Formats: sequence, C-alpha cells, structure tokens
Amino acid sequence: MLPPSPPAIIREEHERPRTFVVAPGDGIGPEITEAVLHVLEAACPDLRPERIVIGEKAYRNGVGSGIPAEAWDIIRRHRVLLKAPITTPEGGGYKSVNVTLRKSLGLFANVRPCPTYHPYVPTPHPGMDVVIVRENEEDTYGGIEHRQTAEVTQCLKLISRPGTERIVRYAFAYARTHGRRKVTCLTKDNIMKLTDGLFHKVFDEVRQDYPDIEAEHLIVDIGTARLATVPQRFDVVVTLNLYGDILSDVVAQISGSVGLAGSANIGPECAMFEAVHGSAPDIAGRGIANPSGLLMAAVLLLVHIGRPEEATQIHNAWLTTLEDGVHTADIANERTTRERVGTRAFAEAVVARLGKRPEHLPPAVYAPRDEGALRLALTPPSPAHRPAKSFHGVDVFLDWSPEEGGRDPEKLARALGAVCPKTFRLSMITNRGTRVWPDGFPETFCTDHWRCRFLRPTPDENVAEAGSLVASLLATIWEGGFEAIKTENLYAFDGAAAYSRGQGE
Ligand code: NAD
Repeated sequence: MLPPSPPAIIREEHERPRTFVVAPGDGIGPEITEAVLHVLEAACPDLRPERIVIGEKAYRNGVGSGIPAEAWDIIRRHRVLLKAPITTPEGGGYKSVNVTLRKSLGLFANVRPCPTYHPYVPTPHPGMDVVIVRENEEDTYGGIEHRQTAEVTQCLKLISRPGTERIVRYAFAYARTHGRRKVTCLTKDNIMKLTDGLFHKVFDEVRQDYPDIEAEHLIVDIGTARLATVPQRFDVVVTLNLYGDILSDVVAQISGSVGLAGSANIGPECAMFEAVHGSAPDIAGRGIANPSGLLMAAVLLLVHIGRPEEATQIHNAWLTTLEDGVHTADIANERTTRERVGTRAFAEAVVARLGKRPEHLPPAVYAPRDEGALRLALTPPSPAHRPAKSFHGVDVFLDWSPEEGGRDPEKLARALGAVCPKTFRLSMITNRGTRVWPDGFPETFCTDHWRCRFLRPTPDENVAEAGSLVASLLATIWEGGFEAIKTENLYAFDGAAAYSRGQGE
C-alpha cells in the first residue's frame, strides 16, 4: 500500500509535481502522444513524463487486465496520468482498461469541456460552450452482466447516494469556480424511477446549496435532442455514466470534431487526462490524426497540477494555429484552411506559435483556481440518515420454457400457487417487466425469463428473518420442479416500498 497523501488537487504550491505519467495507448495513440510531448517539452522543459505501457501491448504480454503491476505502481506514485486512447474489443474479449483505471483510482468525475472555434473549425452551432460532467464509476459501467436463460441476458445498473451526491456537488462546484451560470441534470427517471430517480432527487437536494447557480432537470431524450440542436441553451450538464458517455461524443462532434475535445477524470487522490475520442484504428500509423484532443487534455493536466501559465500559453498557441489555418485533415475546410498538415507538423506549428495569442478567437486564460468549492465536493458526503428497513417479500426469477402447452402464465401461476408455502402469497408474474399474470394480455410476447413476485402477508420489521423465509420458499420452488435463477428481496425504507411495480400493474 502507498502511504496516504493529500489529494492532488489540494497540494500546496511547493509540492506541485514536476513529473506525470504518460501512456501512449493504442491505434493513433503513440502518434498523437509524441506530438503532444513535443509541445510540452517546448513549453515546460522541466516537466518529466514517465512512460508506462498499458492496453493492447500489455495484453499481448499476457497481462489480462491490460495494466501491469509496475504501471499501477508508477500511476499511484505520481497520481497524474496523461493517457492516449486504448482499444477495447466490442462484444467480447478483455474488459476496458479505461473503465478499470477510472474505477480503480476512484476517478468519479469525468469533465469534458466542448467549446467551438468558429469559423476556423466549421460547426453548425457557433455559440455553444458546453461542459459535460459525467458520473464515472457507477451505472451499467459496473459491467455486472449475466446470461440467465437461453434467451435472456441482464446488466445491473447500480446508482448510489454517495456516488451521486459527489458528482452532483462536483458539477455545481465546477460551475461556481469556472464562472458558469447554469447546471442541467439529465436522467430518465420517468422510466427508471428508483435509479435515475435517486440521481434526480439528490440533484434537487444539492441545488439548494448553490442558489447562485441556475438549475434545471430534463428527461435525457428531449435533453439530448435539444443539446444536438440548440446547444447554446446549455452550460454545465451533469448526468449518469452511460448517458454522459454518449452525450459527450455527440457534443464534441457537433462542436466541430470529436478529435478536438480533451477530458479530465478527477478523483480525490489521482487524476487522469485523455482525449474524448478513441484509438481510431482506421487512420492509425498514417500520421494524419489530430493531436488536439490529447493536447487539450494536457492543458487540463497542467491546470490541475498548478501550472496555469503554461496551460494558457499552450492553449493560446493552439488557438493561433487554428486561426492561421494550419489544420489536420479532420477539420480541414475550404473557407479557413491554408495548410493541411499531419500530426507532427501540426505539433510543430503549435510550438512555433508559443507566446502568441489568437486575434479573433477568445484567448484562453487559466488562473490558479479557487479550490475551496472543488475541495468541498471531493470530501466524502456526510453519512446519510439510515432509514428503517422492512421486508415485504421476494421476486423469484425463473427459467421456464415448458416443452408442452406453451408459455402460458396462467398455467405457471397455478403451478406456483400449488407449491407456495403459507408464509408467502404469489401476487404477480411479469415477463421482461410486463405483467402477464393476473389479468395479462395474450398479445404480450413472453420469453423464457419470468419474474414471480411473492409477498409476505404483512411486512416484517425484523429483516434478519428474510434469509430463512426466502430459503424455504426457494426450496419448495425447486422441489416443485422449477428452476429459480435469481432472487431480489423486496424492501421498504421508512415505510415506502422500494421496488418497481410491474408494467401495467
Ligand atoms: P474513435 O473515436 O476512435 O473514431 C471515430 C471516428 O473519428 C473515426 O473515423 C476516426 O478516424 C475519427 N477520429 C477519432 N479521433 C481522431 C483524431 N484524433 N483525428 C482524426 N480523426 C479522428 O471511435 P471508435 O472507432 O468507435 O473506437 C475505436 C476504438 O477506440 C475502440 O476500441 C474503442 O473502444 C476505443 N475507445 C477508447 C477510448 C478511450 O481510450 N478513452 C474512447 C473511445 C473509444
């Protein structure tokens, strides 16, 4: 174990690190990393990058997680990582190194600023300047998935109160410290009333502490439609992990190019900076990738480690490069491009402009930040009031696909009723969440995956008894010839039922 150290973000002036870790990544990663290091060497000659190898090369060397032990040691020693994109196979294979890094290092906040650079980078939305604050550790990105029957797979969506409180506080604190006026929360709590509902509820609680910041909530579907069409009406957006992942690509793309945006992954102890885009295997090795996303990530890194002057210098040299029409292929356009360049030449053009300020685009000015508000967001939320819990019953999930007689919910209910002990009452059967018994419709399509809700006659205040009650119910269900594949206990907290109803119930 490493000795405890103060959070990187609140280190004192004299403690500011001069070393950071760099991971060149996969695909276009090595090319854009060399370009960015070239700019950093020119602007901050005393800053020393320590290289690590993670991702595809590590897998090929037999490291299943993609992150060798020595890489973990280096990251945890220096606590600040500039990471180029890493390839993650789709639909199978190893788990995402990016997600492993974010979760293992406690990097709960993913901050993705997406301004525009009109007219130098064409965009349909010249006035937009959106920052996406994405929750980075929870949601379906826990990656807890199971195949439960021949036909059905599931992914668990976990949303916690402390995790939500931390990200929402961070979004408001970010807005305050960065002179932003509004925070918009996006959820789907009309459908996911418990998980997204908790996120919305916590947002409504935390906003009370920031009366100087305008706050609004939108359902994520209409919110996304508006972000894509009138992004000017948004400022800071805070949302759950999956929505934030999708939205930040949409917003980066409509700001001009997915190749332009950098992002910060912030935790109390460590921080990781990366481009929003991926490893772009389609253009890897050709020397044409835009290094700007990773360069903007490096600028965020410099601000984070307390070197705002150099961050300002690099950012302004980069803006001047765009203004001078020196563009990579992804942003080249007929109106403003004067010289179409590759990755290395673009970095050299930025270096040649260090010390210059843009004439038309708003220049960047990074100041030492008032860390007070951010520090507050990084302190663990106060322990929540522990509500009284009572046991209402259990949902038993069955793999049921009889060879004869079809998938008839009435037949299933009769058979389960016959084996159900007196300690419970079968109250409902759903298939993929839709009630099919009692009073189901024959039109409802049924898979081989059934949720059977067994309720206690009256709630039990002593939840310790739930274990033996559920065990005896399961025993009778198995003895009755049914295959129970999982259970979910049904609880109420402070008297309020805390489980979803069946669709149509
Ligand atoms: P991608 O972002 O790599 O590429 C999408 C498109 O944008 C491609 O046409 C690509 O050529 C272009 N593009 C991306 N970055 C560019 C740049 N800097 N300059 C010019 N053009 C650029 O997305 P993808 O193809 O969906 O993903 C490829 C791989 O990257 C996948 O394995 C994915 O899992 C991984 N990925 C990694 C990260 C990360 O490391 N944080 C993020 C997203 C995707």
